[in-house]
Amino acid sequence: MIKVIVSHDVDHLYTGDHWKHDLILEKFLVRSFIQLFRREITFKVFLKRLPYVFRKRMCRIPEILAFDKMHSIPSSFFFGTGNILGMSYSPEQAKPWVQYVADNGFDVGVHAAVISDFQSMKKEFERFRQFRIQERFGVRVHYVRYDDSTFTNMAEIGYKFDTSEFCKEKITLTQPYPVKAANGNIMWEFPLHVMDGYVIEKNAHDAKKLVLDALDEAERNDNVRYFTFLFHDIYFDEHIYPIWIDFYKWFIGICEERKLPFISYDDAIKEILHND
Ligand SMILES: [Zn+2]
Repeated sequence: MIKVIVSHDVDHLYTGDHWKHDLILEKFLVRSFIQLFRREITFKVFLKRLPYVFRKRMCRIPEILAFDKMHSIPSSFFFGTGNILGMSYSPEQAKPWVQYVADNGFDVGVHAAVISDFQSMKKEFERFRQFRIQERFGVRVHYVRYDDSTFTNMAEIGYKFDTSEFCKEKITLTQPYPVKAANGNIMWEFPLHVMDGYVIEKNAHDAKKLVLDALDEAERNDNVRYFTFLFHDIYFDEHIYPIWIDFYKWFIGICEERKLPFISYDDAIKEILHND
């Protein structure tokens, strides 16, 4: 039977970070106008989005964490300790949130900004390590970005696992494999199978069907043990992103209906090492 691994990228914490550093919120408002015009969102949602850009907290960590807890999902939350592509909060701002998530019994890891410069990658790792919240932890790159050196660098730096490998074109079910670094470190790479934006934004109409087909295939294929699923906490909001939150709750419901167990990356690694 396959097991499902759920994770959340924390791309945003506060609206203030964006008004100061980037154009994320301005672009969000323009996109909302276009979506309203194309009838992709209702007028009601549009009206909610206007005051949304002025409220203080942007992340939806407490809300999605409560949901995951209620459904016994041992999800992992990835936090940035660097800034790039609209991820604009500081490590100091992240720290209390990382602590909050860990205090609630969930795994935390790094949402990496840098993908090739070894020293800068190491700095992101060290900043997170200095939070002293978890002894060892994993990583996921912000956006779908990696090159030939990314994973071996991550292994050498000391990350326990990564879940950044991803196929943009279609859902592929590549299974976890070890990445060996020159210094002898081993990191587990868990390719990501489903990412919210890639199924919802690009295929709004058949997002659920695409995921159902992939789940069916995963259950049929004896070589598939783990199914990895990423949902950004920010979309867990019924007023601002009704389609997205519905998709997340639907997916969790399907897993429960099929009695598919949820597992954390950490426990999956223990399982792999124990069985092999
Ligand atoms: Zn991200």
